[in-house]
Amino acid sequence: MKSDVLIIGAGGAGLVSALHAHYNGAKVKIITKEYPTRSQTCMAQGGINAVLPHAKDDTIEEHIKNTLKSAHGLADEEMVEFLCQQAPEAIEWLDSIGVVFSRTKDGEIAQRRLGGASGSRACYAQDYTGLKILHTLYDQVLACGIEILNERFLLEIITAEDGVSGVSVLNIRNKKVEIYESSAVILATGGYSKIYDKQTTNSKSTTGDGIAVAMRCGVKCIDMEFVQFHPTALKNSAILISESARGEGGYLLNSKGERFTNELAPRDEVARAIDEQIKKGEDIFLDIRHLGESFIDEELPQERKLSLLYENIDPVNELIPIKPVAHYTMGGIEVDKNSQTNIAGLFAVGECANHKVHGANRLGGNSLLELIVFGKQTGINASEYSKKNSNKLDVSKEKTKQNEFLRKIEDFGNEIDFYKQKAFIGELFYNKVGIIRTKKELKEAQEMIKDIKSKIPQMGVNDKSKIYNTNFIEFLEFINMIDICEVVIESALKREVSCGAHFRVDE
Ligand SMILES: Cc1cc2nc3c(=O)[nH]c(=O)nc-3n(C[C@H](O)[C@H](O)[C@H](O)COP(=O)(O)OP(=O)(O)OC[C@H]3O[C@@H](n4cnc5c(N)ncnc54)[C@H](O)[C@@H]3O)c2cc1C
Repeated sequence: MKSDVLIIGAGGAGLVSALHAHYNGAKVKIITKEYPTRSQTCMAQGGINAVLPHAKDDTIEEHIKNTLKSAHGLADEEMVEFLCQQAPEAIEWLDSIGVVFSRTKDGEIAQRRLGGASGSRACYAQDYTGLKILHTLYDQVLACGIEILNERFLLEIITAEDGVSGVSVLNIRNKKVEIYESSAVILATGGYSKIYDKQTTNSKSTTGDGIAVAMRCGVKCIDMEFVQFHPTALKNSAILISESARGEGGYLLNSKGERFTNELAPRDEVARAIDEQIKKGEDIFLDIRHLGESFIDEELPQERKLSLLYENIDPVNELIPIKPVAHYTMGGIEVDKNSQTNIAGLFAVGECANHKVHGANRLGGNSLLELIVFGKQTGINASEYSKKNSNKLDVSKEKTKQNEFLRKIEDFGNEIDFYKQKAFIGELFYNKVGIIRTKKELKEAQEMIKDIKSKIPQMGVNDKSKIYNTNFIEFLEFINMIDICEVVIESALKREVSCGAHFRVDE
């Protein structure tokens, strides 16, 4: 059935735009490759930025200033102003729909300081902020009766002469191609940090699918070289220990027990300081012991649980071993100030989009904010667009085309194990397209990716079943990731000077 607004992705960005398109009168459908509640947004811990009316030590101007500084001159001032000015209203809305923010003794929404911020600005729900936001949004979407199609994998965006007309997806449950017509499509498919495989804090689903599919249909993507490395992931598992741990007073120490950086500097600076220490042979630790057990259990309960579970360390009385890993992708689908891409009727929002508010380095707490502020405007703009435009598509022709494409993949040999290639690429990217970059190493990585790409037809799937064939889906994700890898390296080579998260030592 045709929808007015079709949204691909059910993380924070997708759900917020769905709600606002619905409030604006549109018939909305959401498609996601997993279940909405598994979207990566649920992993966000530290908080969401806003200068609230009761703030004593902070102003919206400071929020704008900090965001622009962290972005290293690559953000659009007007967009940043819009983001920061809309922030108080965004929090008010989340509060009104039932997000359980932590509170001060006076009953105000509690706020903490994150890196690069001049004040205590991040509103939080203990260290489960993303989870609480995502679940509340999901409740609202269900209450509004918005249709959600789970376990559908985006294959292609279908366009007509004058703009978007729908998408093709693969039903993961039965491996059948489905075509959905829509007057407006919103991509909300998240970022691409999973190209770093095990060296990322990100969930398994952040394979950059939406961006890769968009690139294949001629959508412009920008700033793809900017990948933010989070300073504090657990050493063995790369699970994130939130910046809020440092925001609440945690220190970074080397093996000699020395502090070596300003823990609350922007993430790119702290990640580089840690990288330098590691290269000198130091082990690096996060120390929150002095915060005390009751404070940790009240304000940072998840950080304690994660340390115990994944590192067998109790941060109440032990140092937490950490390392920096890939965390957030600033690059993505270029959109204008209405969240519209270069294809009419195709919108993008969230981590897959580039609204030019993060530039070369995102400020902690601004991503969740972006989902709420731009999610609203994207939902409204897409629904307005759909009122005035409607393209038709030939469903059976599109189905045949996609079936042929899938059959071709099924015919690939499987002499080379693509899972091993994926793991190899993760390490390759961590070492050669990571925190510190040189032309020589980028070129080496480029050659290796080119070689791997040429061998894709030798890397098919073993599992030929039709029911929940995750082997097949992971192969489709792998193909998307290779396309993303190519563009990330290409962009990194083009930018010959250091800027924020892109640090060239050979400039
Ligand atoms: C551990 C961690 C902690 C973080 N903490 C914070 C924080 O404290 N504050 C902050 O501001 N930011 C934080 N971030 C960043 C922030 O959480 C993300 O940038 C944000 O949640 C991304 O939201 P999204 O809706 O754009 O994408 P996601 O939440 O990643 O959702 C993407 C959706 O797209 C769907 N999808 C993807 N590909 C396809 C496909 N091919 N077909 C169909 N559907 C598809 C997925 O199933 C999913 O539903 C954190 C990130 C991580 C990893």
